[in-house]
Amino acid sequence: MPAQFIDGKSLAETLRQQVGDRAKRFLSQHGRAPGLTVILVGNNPASEVYVRHKVTACEKASIVSELIRLDASCSTEALLQTIRSLNANPNVDGILVQLPLPGHIPEKTIIEAISPNKDVDGFHPVNAGALFTGQPCLKPCTPLGVMVMLDHQKTPLRAAEAVVVGASNIVGKPLAMMLLQAGATVTICNSKTQNLEEKTRRADILIAAVGRPGLITAEMVKPGAVVIDVGINRLASGKLVGDVDFENVARVAKAITPVPGGVGPMTIAMLLQNTLDAAESVAHAQSLT
Ligand code: NAD
Repeated sequence: MPAQFIDGKSLAETLRQQVGDRAKRFLSQHGRAPGLTVILVGNNPASEVYVRHKVTACEKASIVSELIRLDASCSTEALLQTIRSLNANPNVDGILVQLPLPGHIPEKTIIEAISPNKDVDGFHPVNAGALFTGQPCLKPCTPLGVMVMLDHQKTPLRAAEAVVVGASNIVGKPLAMMLLQAGATVTICNSKTQNLEEKTRRADILIAAVGRPGLITAEMVKPGAVVIDVGINRLASGKLVGDVDFENVARVAKAITPVPGGVGPMTIAMLLQNTLDAAESVAHAQSLT
């Protein structure tokens, strides 16, 4: 039986409407809309597209969004100054610095300057540490989106074998932590992993987050597995594909995400959700003082 198609686009649309309803409630309760500020340094064409999608998605979900553009030659200090002023601005609930930054600006310094309460990308070490230790925190959007998809699919996670291929700080590692906390037995693979196929064939839930088209073939997938493809690769032909050989893997998997239309739209929905969560948690803390 061919795999079920996990439609991230339509799930993300539903979630965005729910966030929009929450944002309207927030406005009526607190007299202001939740706010996200995106900082774009320079004019990397891919970043321009991502930023535009984020700002448009905010507008549709009744979240006030502001885009701050800084010149590619801007100093680290100028960017830090901008972040400090946003940290202190009570109308800004979420701050997102679009990565990558120009080479002369250290990303680590910038990420660490964002207030952890406003770190809607979930990249700050305080949030990463809280995720690691199972505390409430803002979680990175892409792995969070994957977890929401699995939950929506009613994929059993307790005692399941999950294999995450890819170990970056923004996708693979946080996703592995989330799966572990949900009760899965997790294997994390990276570029040094030997006999990748032997690991991936154990997976009830197989996640590919590498950035290599066609890395995961049908032979590497256990029949009946749920396969989530986080990869986004543009082929020379211009076609967008993931890391999974979709057509052939769909013949053995129980369920599979497409690229595009799978994990990608979930990432933006989670950014909106994180902004709302950040706004609500600050408002809640203020109501207690
Ligand atoms: P990255 O380059 O930071 O990390 C890639 C990881 O894959 C590394 O841990 C590396 O060790 C591992 N790897 C490389 N080759 C491997 C191999 N042959 N076998 C096993 N592991 C291997 O990438 P990233 O930022 O985590 O992104 C991964 C992919 O996900 C990219 O295609 C990226 O475009 C995509 N992505 C998609 C979204 C989305 O919203 N859908 C968000 C973020 C990233």
